[in-house]
Order: sequence, then structure tokens, then C-alpha cells
Amino acid sequence: MDKDGPSTAAVVVAAGRGMRAGGGVPKQWRPLGGMSVAARAVAAFACHPGVDDVILVVHPDDMELARPLASDRVRIVAGADTRTGSVLCGLRALEARCVRVLIHDAARPLVTGDTIARVIAALADHDGAAPGIEVIDALWQGRGGRIVATRDRADLWRAQTPQGFRLAPLMDAYADHDGEAADDVAVALAAGLDVALVAGEEENVKITRPGDFARAARISGMDMDVRTGNGVDVHRFGPGDHVMLCGVRIPFGRGLDGHSDADVGMHAVTDAIYGALAAGDIGAHFPPSDPQWKGAASEVFLTHACDMARDAGFTLSHADCTLICEVPKIGPHRAAMRAEMARIMGIDIDRMSVKATTSERLGFAGREEGIAAIATATLVRA
Ligand code: MG
Repeated sequence: MDKDGPSTAAVVVAAGRGMRAGGGVPKQWRPLGGMSVAARAVAAFACHPGVDDVILVVHPDDMELARPLASDRVRIVAGADTRTGSVLCGLRALEARCVRVLIHDAARPLVTGDTIARVIAALADHDGAAPGIEVIDALWQGRGGRIVATRDRADLWRAQTPQGFRLAPLMDAYADHDGEAADDVAVALAAGLDVALVAGEEENVKITRPGDFARAARISGMDMDVRTGNGVDVHRFGPGDHVMLCGVRIPFGRGLDGHSDADVGMHAVTDAIYGALAAGDIGAHFPPSDPQWKGAASEVFLTHACDMARDAGFTLSHADCTLICEVPKIGPHRAAMRAEMARIMGIDIDRMSVKATTSERLGFAGREEGIAAIATATLVRA
């Protein structure tokens, strides 16, 4: 935007003392996914290409809390005892070049850039514009735990913010307005301004009650628990006529030594899953000293790790296994390995990767003394 030309500002109102959401501090200063609610609301406007300046209005006692949010695009001013008073503090702090203002409640931290853009666009043809959601549910009147009447929902919309206005008519409307208003649209309508209704978004929730933090985190995916684990395994060649690799029996002039079937690839993936769960390793769950696992199919281990993950509420999102060996050739068996691993893990084959590399004849794998495997696994709990 032209630094000296007409500009659009946002006034983010964060001066309330609302404690209903719990946590012992006003809700706008409680963390949501690692940032305060107010910081998220400010960032939505400060990062928006259609917004030039942001005024954050805070309670006089919160100036210190708010200071880290100040920047060359964000100024902080003290508010008043009422919402209407605080909005006026923000409006009076706007620069002379400002011609449009978006007034937003800091308690709506999940406002999207699309909603902000719709409000700004509508100001080309209207004095004001605000996002709303059509009321879909039937409406009742309740009293004393009983439904006493139904109400007509036709033409009813749920109000959201930001509420945008051409600044000059809004300032006139505020000058004519006495006392508190429900919101800025109420002030504008009282002055006869033309206010457009633009599409709001269900995700643009207002944080009010204790459960709203968890709901906002869920909506934004901020409560998603993503874990990555790694696993490494090595088995040495010994006598035999085949090797088991990622569940596939490959005829070969030697075998792999080990207590179980020595499936080095499957062991690495199993350990990666245990690792993502911070649940130890194969040796802890299936001690080599226990004779019952002698010659065991490694499927038992992998199934156990996958069951543990699912019991803890995780989805197995992906696994990637790299086999490191000179021999045998892995390429011809790769598709079968992916299919067998995916079958055991209960995932789609496109979530199971098997790769192979040599070690350029260096080290134990290069001398054909054994096979190594390295794996990662990703688990997700939403
Ligand atoms: Mg092993």
C-alpha cells in the first residue's frame, strides 16, 4: 500500500476483563496453541495484505502484557471501562490517512484472511460491512428448564467481527451515539448507515466459556499431537538359505543371525513406532533372553507396536524404512515388502515406504557381513 495514501486500519479490542473462560487471567491473554488469544487476533490483521495499520486496545493494567505485540504495524493504546469506550479510544488513535477501519474482538482469534478480505471488499459499495452466519437451528424460548415458546428464525443472522466501516460516517455515528451499544453495527444502524452482510465462517468462534479454548484448538488443528520416532537395527549374515526382509522371504545363499526371524527392516520400523510412543524398544517388550521369541515371526513385534499406538489413540500416518546392504538385491522385492508391511500395520500402501541403498562397499554392510536398516514412523492423534 502507498505509505501516504488512503489506508485501512484494524482496531482490535482486547480491553475486557472477561474471566468466564477460566484460567485466572482475562481470556485474551490466555495461550492458544503457544500464542495468546490476543496475539493471534492481532497477527490475523497485521499479516493481511489489505490492512495497513493495527491498533490494539488493551486494559490500562495490561500495557506490559501487550508490549511484545507492538511493531511497526501494530500500536497499543489503553482502553476504557466499556467496550464502546474502548472502541472510541482505538478510533481516536487512527492516523489521518485512515479512511476505512475494521473493528474486531480479540476473543475471535481464528478469523481468516478470507473473511477480512470480504469485509474490505464490501466497503467499496457500502458505509459498513460485517460477517454473519445464517441461523439454521430452530429457536426456542426457555424458562425455568422448560421450552415455553418457539421463535421464527427467518432473516436472523449471528453477528461476527471484524465489522468494517468507512471511517468518516462511523465517527459521525459515534458522535451521535449515547451509552453502550451491543456492537459497532448497532451504532452504525442507529445513524442510518448502509451496512452490508457478508459471509462469516463457523470457525471464527468467540472464546467465552471454558470449553471454547479446547474447541478453538480443535477447529484450528492446534490440538493435533504429531509424533515422529526413529529405529535402527543391524543383523549379521550367518548360515542359511534365505533372509526375511520387511516380511518377505528372499532366497539367498546365507541367512541373518538373530533370536527371532532377524527381519532387520521390520525391527527398525517397530522400534520407530515404539520411539514415537516413547515406549522403549523391541528388547524391552520381547526380551531376547525369553525363549518363547526364538525364531518368532517379527510380525508379532510389529503388531504389538501398532496395537500400542492405536490403544493410545494414535493413527499410524506413515513409515519409511531404508535397508542398507550390498546383497541381496532389494529392488525386485520392494513392492511386496511395502504391501506386506502395510498389511500388518493396517495402513494404505502409499503410507509405507521401503527404500534401499548400498554403503559403497564401506563398513560391515559394504563387506557383506550383514544388513542394517533405519526407519522413521509418524503417528498422529487428533
Ligand atoms: Mg533386530
